[in-house]
Amino acid sequence: MKNKYLRWLFLTVATAAFSGNSLAQEWTPELTERWEPVPEIVTPGVGPRPPSDAIVLFDGASLSEWESVREGPAAWGVEDGAMTVVRGAGDIRTRRSFGSVQLHLEWRTPAAVQGEGQGRGNSGVFFQERYEVQILDSYENTTYSNGQAGSIYKQYIPLANASRPPGAWQSYDILFTAPVFGEKGKVIRPVFMTVIHNGVLIQNHVELKGRTEYIGLSEYEVHGDAPLSLQDHGNPVSYRNIWVREL
Ligand code: MG
Repeated sequence: MKNKYLRWLFLTVATAAFSGNSLAQEWTPELTERWEPVPEIVTPGVGPRPPSDAIVLFDGASLSEWESVREGPAAWGVEDGAMTVVRGAGDIRTRRSFGSVQLHLEWRTPAAVQGEGQGRGNSGVFFQERYEVQILDSYENTTYSNGQAGSIYKQYIPLANASRPPGAWQSYDILFTAPVFGEKGKVIRPVFMTVIHNGVLIQNHVELKGRTEYIGLSEYEVHGDAPLSLQDHGNPVSYRNIWVREL
């Protein structure tokens, strides 16, 4: 039985190698063309507008896509096309849950600088309520590097500090790949993140070690799709033009 299998394996490999070799003599451009599937048409946004297949999470006017993480509606302020953290109102999260996404988000720290280090323009965007990309006024503001703007909080230092001055709008474009768990909580695929800050690549497909933690080491816990959340860290950080594309 085993011999028969080995003979079959040998013949299969030999045939493949031989035919591959002979094919190599006859390559034409058409042989490596693939016409299916045809990628879906997505109309890109003009200027700040989202692409045609995006889920708009904040359009400058309504907090209808958001709720408080405690209970009830999101109690942040909305004015002049932006929403702003109201100190003490708590974190807010999307009503929808997401898996892997492309996120676009614009944020602004207060023009009038108050506080220093982690106390200056601190907020954050959490994917699946667990994995934070730090939002901080990191313009001429020293703090621990793995906690500055664009860090994967306490896991990855950004590749560059692409911060604009306080009071200026800044953008994040983030690719978030959700984790996959197997039996007994085994991590089959960890989280990966790529972050572009104001057009500058600052996190390049980094592999997360688990949920981001303020204290202690990161670990994974089994979970499914979950909301995006934004942090109330006590500073009046503003947001606008938030959208995702599900991947
Ligand atoms: Mg934060």
